[in-house]
Amino acid sequence: MDAELIRRDLKLYLNDNKKYQKLIVQIRKGKRLLYWHEKLLSEFSRKPSGYNLEYKDLSLALQICEIHEVELETGNTKVFKGCIDIWHDDFDTFIENYPNYLPSVINGLSESQGGVVKIQFCPECNRLFKESKNV
Ligand SMILES: [Zn+2]
Repeated sequence: MDAELIRRDLKLYLNDNKKYQKLIVQIRKGKRLLYWHEKLLSEFSRKPSGYNLEYKDLSLALQICEIHEVELETGNTKVFKGCIDIWHDDFDTFIENYPNYLPSVINGLSESQGGVVKIQFCPECNRLFKESKNV
């Protein structure tokens, strides 16, 4: 099944970018779907020109950044124990602009500390985040 086609048709079907973004995050993070998500996906799957989509098809198609709509990549991040300074005055703006950047380190479980974990990230969020730090 063509993931790009599914995304394009779903976005057109929703006709509301905020709803589309929320649905992407909900599905990508494997969270339980809300009632309106289930209803909408059921209707989308049944539409005449539609797909006979299963949740896993949709989940695979929506492994994208909700802001930049590019497919996520997998990167390595070091795990440490401790606190990270918040380097932005406005953390909400930071999260809105680069929700899927690849952090260089994360605070992790003791058994992972000192090691490396794989994290999905958006290459565009990462690029823009790095650019913003150089300003
Ligand atoms: Zn992004």
